[in-house]
Amino acid sequence: MKKKHFWVIGILSVVLFLLVPTFHLLKTKLGENDQEEAIKQGYTNDASELNLTKVDTIIQVPTGKQAIESQLKSVLKYAKENKLKISIAGAKHSMGGHTIYPDGIVLNMLPYKHMELDAANNILTIGSGAKWEDAIKYLDKYGKSIAVMQAFSSFSIGGSISVNGHGWQKDLPPISSSVVSFTLMKENGAIVNCSRTENQELFKLAIGGYGLFGVILDVKLKVVDNLPLQFKYLRLSTKNYVSYYKKYISGNPDVNLVFGRLKISDKEFLEEATLNFFVKTDAPIPPLPNQKSTETQRLVFRGSVNSEYGKRLRLDLETGMNKVSRNTIYSRNDLLNDDVSLIENKDNSSTDLLQEYFIPERNFNQFIEGMKPILKESKIDLLNITIRGVHQDKDSYLNYARENVFGFVLLFNQKKTEEQEQEMKKLTNQLVTVALKNNGTFYLPYRLHIDRAKMRKSYLQADSFFQLKRKYDPGELFNNKFYEHYK
Ligand SMILES: Cc1cc2nc3c(=O)[nH]c(=O)nc-3n(C[C@H](O)[C@H](O)[C@H](O)COP(=O)(O)OP(=O)(O)OC[C@H]3O[C@@H](n4cnc5c(N)ncnc54)[C@H](O)[C@@H]3O)c2cc1C
Repeated sequence: MKKKHFWVIGILSVVLFLLVPTFHLLKTKLGENDQEEAIKQGYTNDASELNLTKVDTIIQVPTGKQAIESQLKSVLKYAKENKLKISIAGAKHSMGGHTIYPDGIVLNMLPYKHMELDAANNILTIGSGAKWEDAIKYLDKYGKSIAVMQAFSSFSIGGSISVNGHGWQKDLPPISSSVVSFTLMKENGAIVNCSRTENQELFKLAIGGYGLFGVILDVKLKVVDNLPLQFKYLRLSTKNYVSYYKKYISGNPDVNLVFGRLKISDKEFLEEATLNFFVKTDAPIPPLPNQKSTETQRLVFRGSVNSEYGKRLRLDLETGMNKVSRNTIYSRNDLLNDDVSLIENKDNSSTDLLQEYFIPERNFNQFIEGMKPILKESKIDLLNITIRGVHQDKDSYLNYARENVFGFVLLFNQKKTEEQEQEMKKLTNQLVTVALKNNGTFYLPYRLHIDRAKMRKSYLQADSFFQLKRKYDPGELFNNKFYEHYK
């Protein structure tokens, strides 16, 4: 080849190499409506955007302790007199109407977000409407951090306790393990303190209790030290995930945060994985950034929706970024403080929906093998699968981690059509069947596509859980679509 031709081909390749992804991301951006659908007056919805429901009233709770107690007592009395049900809402990121009862009263708990740290005992007292992001910013000033929380910081404390969330803190049980105590307003307006020694039954029931036992008000949480953490990552065959996890993660006491990710592009679908982990170092703790610029990351993620090219591009870019950022030092608080807007869907015709399965280590590979053909065949677009190790939960009643498990978090994009809704229902039922075959459980804050009987195969304690609901709340004052579906 002539030297001149070589240069032309070289330049063209570089231009194409840069142009094609740029064009793809631009197309993604231009395809977005970028206008949040306004919720009609008198209605509410949740993160699924599939639960638009007319309600009687939405009540913003006040910020002060005495004010909230007296307001809620009056609301409870009013609701009983007028035969109205009450649902409780935090950040509304649950997806099955867990915060909604048709024609009921909704309590918006978000304004109730006071915080006080007992630094000597590492205990944070916090209003249940506060979000993790509020708590992280507050704790950062004292060199402290949240012990256990979800992968994003946009959730409220009350909502997180009521689903008993879990996160990517290494080998820890769900949030329950970090709850020291909380006060709970019961259906009769009485406020009781719940802990492992006081009102133990209510403590167990309200953690993962989906707002059915009363309003959680003031929470005492164990907190930990903020730390400088260095990023590491490994690429591995999925088959070796558990053995690598044991050696490099469980076996290394310096690992503090960790998540795995499965490859979801067509080539080697679910056969390759990455382990992304953060190790304690002696370096100074970097300051918490005021703002993070996440738009490029968001667009790369959104560009993977319904696009095999976009899925590969995302994988290549993330792999490249992992190489560049390997060994970078972050503060623990910075790593925990990600907003859900990082993956925000700005296309009004579709919505992103999560599912999660908790599988014992011994069945890790069989579960993946079982999921593979189902996911490949489904018409629902799979966007992401991450894996977290969740240790046995000894605190909550409606427990999903009955032994040490791996949590598989699946994110899908669904069109807002009846056809896709039915397709999602089919997919969810197939995946739950695979989870059950592998002695696993499914997570309850998401869509209500599983029927009562099948739910009870996963949650053997469901019948007694709902009986205890009626013991503590005989008039079923605290109510929502989750309760109506599964009770
Ligand atoms: C993008 C995304 C990522 C997620 N990642 C994770 C994850 O990594 N790990 C995980 O475990 N989960 C995860 N989830 C699920 C999430 O943890 C739950 O949806 C959680 O409920 C969110 O908190 P919230 O404040 O939005 O709760 P809401 O949806 O507002 O409420 C959830 C439940 O709690 C009840 N409730 C709320 N506040 C109170 C209160 N003060 N007193 C009594 N009951 C109350 C409600 O009635 C409802 O039943 C994710 C969800 C999304 C959308």
